[in-house]
Order: sequence, then C-alpha cells, then structure tokens
Amino acid sequence: MLLNGKAIAQEIQAEIAGQVHQITGRKPGLAVVLVGHNPASQAYVRSKKKACALVGIQSLVIELPASIALSDVIYEIEKLNQNPSIDAILVQLPLPPHLDESQITAAIDPNKDVDGFHPINVGKMLLGEEGAFLPCTPLGIHVLLQKSSIPIEGQHVVIIGRSNIVGKPLAAILMQKKRHCNATVTIAHSQTKNLAVLTRSADILVAAIGRPHFIKKEMIQPGATVIDVGINRLPDGRLIGDVDFESVSEVAGHITPVPGGIGPMTIAMLLQNTLRGYNDQK
Ligand code: NAD
Repeated sequence: MLLNGKAIAQEIQAEIAGQVHQITGRKPGLAVVLVGHNPASQAYVRSKKKACALVGIQSLVIELPASIALSDVIYEIEKLNQNPSIDAILVQLPLPPHLDESQITAAIDPNKDVDGFHPINVGKMLLGEEGAFLPCTPLGIHVLLQKSSIPIEGQHVVIIGRSNIVGKPLAAILMQKKRHCNATVTIAHSQTKNLAVLTRSADILVAAIGRPHFIKKEMIQPGATVIDVGINRLPDGRLIGDVDFESVSEVAGHITPVPGGIGPMTIAMLLQNTLRGYNDQK
C-alpha cells in the first residue's frame, strides 16, 4: 500500500493555513539564508517560499554570494535573530566548503532554529525533552508513520544512513521512551557488513543513502514498511529514490513514493515548526 506523503502533507498544510488565517496582526515569518548558486538548493528554497505563501506565512530569502566570509554570514544570522518579525531561521545546506556548517548552525537563536540543527535542540532531542525543534525530515517520517497507523512501538526500525540531517535524528526520535516511539533502532552505513541480512530483519526500513534504487526486493522482509528518503536526479532530469520502487512494492506492506513521499512531509514540518516558533515567541 502506498504511503501518500503528498496527501498527508496537504492535510497538515490546510490545518496550518487555517491557524495562520485566524492570526490577526503580524503573521509568522520564516527567513531562509541561501549562500551561493547551487541549483538544487535554489529549487528547494523556491519550494519552501511557495509553501509559505500557500499557508499565509511570510518568507524572506537572504541570498548571499558563494565567496562570503564566515563572519559575514554570522552577522546576517545575528540580524535575523534580533528581527522581531522573524520567528524561524534556516540556513539552506550544503554550504560552500570554506564555510563551517557547525559554527553557522550554532549562530542561530535556538528559539528560531526551525531545522533543529542547533546543538541545544539536538541535545534536547536526544534527551527526549519536550520543547526542542525537531529536524523536519525525521519529524516528517515520524508523523507520516503515525498518520498512516503504522505500528512503531517495539518494532525493529533499520535506518540506512547516519547523517546529522536524517539518520541520526530519526534514530534519536524513534528510540525515545514515549508513546508512538519505543522502537528498536539499528543504524546502518557505508561500513556496515551483511547489509541485506540486517535490512531483512526490519519491520520498518528507512533508506537515506543518496544512491538511486540501491534497495532491492531481496533486501525486504515481506510486509515491511519501506520509507524512501533519497532524492536522486537522473541525467534526464527525473527524480528517483534510493528504493527500487517497482520491485520493492511487490513485497513491502507499505511504501513511500519518490517524489510525493517524504519530500512534501519535510516541507509541511517546516511550516509546522515555523508556526510553533511564532506561537512560542508571542
Ligand atoms: P549523506 O550523504 O549525508 O549520508 C548518506 C549516508 O548513506 C551516509 O551515512 C553513508 O554512510 C550511507 N551510505 C552511503 N553508501 C552506503 C552503502 N553502500 N551502504 C550503506 N550505507 C551507505 O545524505 P543525507 O543528507 O542523509 O541524504 C540522504 C538522501 O536523502 C539524499 O538522497 C538526499 O537528497 C535525501 N534527502 C531527502 C530529504 C527529503 O526531504 N526528502 C531531506 C534530506 C535528504
């Protein structure tokens, strides 16, 4: 069965639009910092801006040249930290190689850190504390599983990929001793041995690798839920996931498509986090 991330994201966005509509006076504001001219990043920023406009959230894109110094990026972030009409700040990744991602992330006010990458929010997430901003992609996966009534508690979740953006935070969220979490989580990565043996033991398999159609039918436990986070652009312009959708969907119990799965959920969570930032700061 298809897990329709796009449809669920649209429902969430409609709820957010309703809530934003009720706000009289200043609307929630998101600032996106875009450094350089990476075409994929430019496309992601355009879609975030469009999504904001659809729900009535104000968005501001700060475009900075690729050659900018670290201190100047931090200066721009500090101005946004002080700006009372901005509730949420995100820096579009990846950054040009000369800019230190961790210093830039740490410069964002943790109360406006909608991507949840600031060390304070990462720490709170790991500790299972309430009130942290959770990163949008893993949060979107968790919400999609819940809204699709996929059991998580006590299930074996195998996540392939250990990035700070997807794999690590998703593991931190799903392993918490909390309702709708309580999963047994295994993280696999490029050095993992006998990957297929591991993936075949997954009740929920999450692929966040960045390799087109890496996950094949033989790697799936029949009936498992398969979440495809990968976004890979082929030379002909098509977007495909990390999962060989056609063959895997023959054995999986539930599966997300690419596009139309985790991508739209990520955007919906960005809007949700922005509204939360607004409500927290009121
Ligand atoms: P990353 O490049 O930081 O990490 C990739 C991970 O895959 C690494 O941890 C690596 O160890 C693992 N890996 C690589 N080769 C492997 C192999 N042969 N066997 C097992 N593991 C292997 O990537 P990321 O930022 O986490 O992104 C992963 C994918 O998800 C990309 O395609 C990216 O575009 C996509 N993504 C999508 C969204 C979304 O909104 N849908 C958000 C973030 C990332």
